[in-house]
Amino acid sequence: MIISVASGKGGTGKTTVAVNLALSINDNVQFLDCDAEEPNAHIFLKPEIKKTAKVFIPVPKIDEAKCAYCGRCREVCVYNAIAVIPPSAGRKGKTLFFPNLCHGCGSCSYFCPEGAIKEVNREIGEIETGYAGSIEFAHGRLNIGEAMAPPVIREIKKHIKTECTVIIDAPPGTSCPVVETLKRSDYCVLVTEPTPFGLNDLMLAVEVLRKLKIPFGVVINRADLGDEKTDLYCDKENIPILMRIPFKKEIAMAYSKGEPIVMAFPEYKKEFIKLYEDIAGQVQ
Ligand code: SF4
Ligand code: SF4
Repeated sequence: MIISVASGKGGTGKTTVAVNLALSINDNVQFLDCDAEEPNAHIFLKPEIKKTAKVFIPVPKIDEAKCAYCGRCREVCVYNAIAVIPPSAGRKGKTLFFPNLCHGCGSCSYFCPEGAIKEVNREIGEIETGYAGSIEFAHGRLNIGEAMAPPVIREIKKHIKTECTVIIDAPPGTSCPVVETLKRSDYCVLVTEPTPFGLNDLMLAVEVLRKLKIPFGVVINRADLGDEKTDLYCDKENIPILMRIPFKKEIAMAYSKGEPIVMAFPEYKKEFIKLYEDIAGQVQ
């Protein structure tokens, strides 16, 4: 079973829920941190990293000696990663490539009528894998200045072992990296907090999950702060509220020290086990 933990925005306690859920399930657990822009689950799980692998995407290398400046590559690039300046009034033409916009889709080399484009690898990040106790762990990290998280996320997800219970910590927000992360999930836990901003972002995340047709439920963090509107929304939309985590100074203190709740306060373990059982009950 693949369980993703997501939130419409950062800072809602998504990693806390993912980490404590993984630590509460007995064994055969895999944890993937797909927040490639800012992975932080390792701070809590403290995995021993055994392997590191670079992530590359194929990008075009244009041979200007062969290029006829026809502009076909620019036309087919939906990401505007290529500009073509045709020759004029005795001036040579020029093709310009903007690597940070390139998604490595291969269209430009495929459609170039002159065979002037070949693909070369460009490193965009790395994947680290290892173990946190009995939990198999993997996370990825984009290189500084890189913006293309989905290829790194796809690489992390290649490590999925379907025979395990897989817990995936998703990136915050509702954009491409989140969609890439959520694909293939059997269930998604949406972590929110009961504030107007939290509710707004929860509603956006709900829309994404409904489009992806992935079953989901909500965990309300800092549940005793804020208002009733999140409860009313979930009730109206028939969304199960799976768990409420209270705002407690001791939880915040443990978090700030990088200590998972269930390690600092083992009495919380049964709540996370119940969360897992509720999810399993909804997936079967
Ligand atoms: S498609 Fe090929 S020939 Fe045409 S502008 Fe691009 S690189 Fe040059
Ligand atoms: S590989 Fe795709 S995204 Fe990159 S420049 Fe070519 S067409 Fe654009």
